[in-house]
Amino acid sequence: MRDETYQRLIGEVDASGSRLAHTLQDLIRFESIVMSDPTKAGPGERLCQEYLAQRLTASGFATELWEPDAGALLQKYAGKPGAQKGRNFTGRPILAGTRKGRGGGRSILLTGHIDVVPPGELTHWVYPPFAGRLVQDRIYGRGAVDMKGGVACMLVAGEILHELQVPLSGDILFSTVVDEEIGGMGTLAMADRGYHADAGILTEPTSNRIAPVCHGILWGKIILDGIGGHAELARRHWDKGGPVDAIGLTRFLLSGIDVINERWRTDPRKNHPLMELPNQIIVTQLKAGEHPSSAAGRSEIIIDVQYLPHEKDVDGVGGIVRSEIEEHIARISRVDPWLAAHPARIEWILDADCAEVAVDHPVIGAFRNACEAASHPFELWGIGAHTDMGIPTDLGKTPTVNFGPGDPSQAHQPNESVSVAELVTTTKIVALTIAGWCR
Ligand SMILES: [Zn+2]
Repeated sequence: MRDETYQRLIGEVDASGSRLAHTLQDLIRFESIVMSDPTKAGPGERLCQEYLAQRLTASGFATELWEPDAGALLQKYAGKPGAQKGRNFTGRPILAGTRKGRGGGRSILLTGHIDVVPPGELTHWVYPPFAGRLVQDRIYGRGAVDMKGGVACMLVAGEILHELQVPLSGDILFSTVVDEEIGGMGTLAMADRGYHADAGILTEPTSNRIAPVCHGILWGKIILDGIGGHAELARRHWDKGGPVDAIGLTRFLLSGIDVINERWRTDPRKNHPLMELPNQIIVTQLKAGEHPSSAAGRSEIIIDVQYLPHEKDVDGVGGIVRSEIEEHIARISRVDPWLAAHPARIEWILDADCAEVAVDHPVIGAFRNACEAASHPFELWGIGAHTDMGIPTDLGKTPTVNFGPGDPSQAHQPNESVSVAELVTTTKIVALTIAGWCR
């Protein structure tokens, strides 16, 4: 592309701070909270999608809004990423649009989610979560970071490319989904509908680092059965009818989990050069005990486990790692006579997939050129959590890279906020990447 086109694009995006700020404020004001019971959803998700559809249409995109058939998707993709039970899209449409290029060039998919997690305790918020307050250079509100900030950037990038009539041979595809925060069926619906491209950008928060890999996530519940009894009195052995304290069993099991984590810390299979941390089994919830003077008769341990793309099974999810953990827990159990006879049980609650785009993929080169043109540091980074990148990458054959504004550690917190300057940078890199990739 000619230098002059790059310069015009950079100048226009640099002048777009207030447009970006207004766009993000508008998006935050739609209360697009994802509900675990989708029949209880309010109108916020639909209204937000309609707003985006209108702006896209004005920028030369042929758009559609549709309500996917969750039952049909579940049947078609059972066991695969994004195929969640109990979802319903009535009144909660998916948006996608295409802006045709002149033909013969590489296409790109811009994608993100507009659903947000609930705001939680309102007194923890300095400004109301859905007010979209701009204070100095920062915009505050639920979704400012995760990820309406990113959605605002990809929208404004598309608008500016259109307004400047930047010559593009390849198509731009744009999609915003719901249901990301509850398992990814919205992205599955988008990929199933046929929105595939030669590369993709998912504008999840990365602090404007290029993140070509994310973790897969498993949630499991480990159940330990003891036998209740009086806590203070001398105990008979359990084979003579005495109690078994499930909290004691829990301590034993947790120390076994520490041993596994220590082993994983240096295990090459559990580490990735772009990830800040090794995979771990993290205990996030404990539940045990019925009465202050009774030995606990049962205990439940909730774990969060990460896995890497090279650990995926044939369905593209974490079946191999699930078996590995089941074997670990069985091995720990065999050391304790009670547990050997009454093994811990594991129920898997969630399996969210992961993916990776090779760092030598041409789209990473397009990002590198864009960073250079914008004088922005080119930094690769691995997201230690799950994003929806796996569904477009694997099912949609659209190698999709995470790149977006905001500090990812603020996601789901009260007082999430993003700076307008950061939105401008993201928009610039996205617009330049598209201009280079689709030229
Ligand atoms: Zn997100």
